[in-house]
Amino acid sequence: MVELKRRRLFSSAETPSPNTMQISSRKAQHKTIIMILDFASSCNTYEKEFYTQSYFDETPCPKCGAIGRFNMHGSYCRHVMYFVEVSLVHAIIDLKRIKCRSCKSTHAIMPGDLIPYKLLSLCVLLHILVTHILDKTPVLKIAEQIGFSFQFIYSCISGFVLHKPRIHLYFMETLNVFASSISSCTELLSLIEKPYIKFQRGYIERNRRPCFMRKFFYGGGGPPIGLAVPSAAAT
Ligand SMILES: [Zn+2]
Repeated sequence: MVELKRRRLFSSAETPSPNTMQISSRKAQHKTIIMILDFASSCNTYEKEFYTQSYFDETPCPKCGAIGRFNMHGSYCRHVMYFVEVSLVHAIIDLKRIKCRSCKSTHAIMPGDLIPYKLLSLCVLLHILVTHILDKTPVLKIAEQIGFSFQFIYSCISGFVLHKPRIHLYFMETLNVFASSISSCTELLSLIEKPYIKFQRGYIERNRRPCFMRKFFYGGGGPPIGLAVPSAAAT
């Protein structure tokens, strides 16, 4: 557990609260599972027991498009690092799975701030990016503060640079502004901060992929990432 000085990135509405994570010894089977992000939950609030079949009555299947045709289908474990108040914790979350009755595909229900195939939650990743790019904190200093290797911090920054053109395009389309006025890393990261979870949801709706997900980045392969859209889950 690492104590971190947090900054303006996290508004009170987004500040995670402590929560008990479910831990299971079941073997991970995520390689063939399509993911659905639920923006009504976060790494801090996620409870697999919360989900019932009726929760997905309005959710489209990411693979075949059928709406609300899901059965509960077990769970699997997944490592993640996220903030609990000012502490960075490494936990194993037991993710609920559902299965589409139309196409028989299986989907993992993930909290909206979890990035598929990445260890860090969106909140932690943005903390690193903001600390380096906006606050100008050296990579070695961040690595020391957060307890990661400097190579890992550099990989986080390179992931941002990789996604920068798509982030740029997203804000050009959604803000209807001139490309040159939001072209720098500093400007784009500042836009993501307000608020970051809203950005991620909008980005997925346009790209069928979460921002900062590097797997399948090249070539466009891999299944699309779905969104859970229960009527009671307005975000
Ligand atoms: Zn389906």
